Amino acid sequence: MHKDIATPVRTKEILDKYGFSFKKSLGQNFLIDTNILKRIVDHAGLTEETAAIEIGPGIGALTEQLARRSRRVIAFEIDQRLLPILADTLSPYENVKVIHEDILKADVRQVLKEEGEEGSELMVVANLPYYVTTPIIMKLLEEKLPIKGIVGMLQKEVADRITAKPGTKEYGSLSIAVQYYTVAETVMGVPKTVFVPQPNVDSAVIRLMVREEPAVKVKDEKFFFFVSRSSFAQRRKTILNNLTSQLPDGKNKKEQIIAALKAAGIEESRRGETLSIEEFARLSDELYPIFS
Ligand code: SAM
Repeated sequence: MHKDIATPVRTKEILDKYGFSFKKSLGQNFLIDTNILKRIVDHAGLTEETAAIEIGPGIGALTEQLARRSRRVIAFEIDQRLLPILADTLSPYENVKVIHEDILKADVRQVLKEEGEEGSELMVVANLPYYVTTPIIMKLLEEKLPIKGIVGMLQKEVADRITAKPGTKEYGSLSIAVQYYTVAETVMGVPKTVFVPQPNVDSAVIRLMVREEPAVKVKDEKFFFFVSRSSFAQRRKTILNNLTSQLPDGKNKKEQIIAALKAAGIEESRRGETLSIEEFARLSDELYPIFS
């Protein structure tokens, strides 16, 4: 077994050797605690069959643990300066492929095809760059990639919003969007002290297991998400007020919106944050014929 990358001493050695300077704009906060990394990997439930997809390998701290615990790792890294470092630190591992691409621009499905991993058991495991956490998660889910799930480190505040239940102040359209596709839970909190440099915000690890079927069946997915976003446009407003102000020509269609709320069994005086995902589904199906 090789010396772990994720210790304060080894990380400093690597950074010094290459004269690497962190780019805050790329969310570069590297993990320097092997125990935390092992626990993150434990939560991913990898087997010898699994191919892990990593986003942002940095200097390879998590990549290394994944390489030891999975069949293969495919890692997307945006920062060209990290490529020679990764080639060095990950040289003991033959089962790692680093791809120099912005994950938000990458054609992940095509990469999986090229790498012969299309039909594999796939799990995304990542210490995500915090400036783009939500776009990355939504891209992976909306593209309906053939992944089993995502285990990701992110800001605690975003983890709370993603996993929130109705009736809480964290619950909103992000909770609905993610929980539509996945069963979402926070699996651990992570202190700032295990990163270099330390981030300004608290962190948490979430696990999102992709559902075989979405949580609810709706007539039109896009419209369902539009209705849920519209319902939270102004959190203090009632659902009726949000819908009339957000839906196209909503003010003139107020009576129809009231009828749709009634048909869906939802009091017009309720606020968006009290509606379950099932209620949003019923509501969007009632509104759909009016706005399509
Ligand atoms: N995995 C490493 C670790 O845990 O120590 C580094 C994690 S660091 C929080 C985020 C990493 O994502 C950095 O290496 C950064 O360069 C990379 N990154 C930032 N934006 C990216 C993007 N759009 N696509 C791919 N990688 C990105």
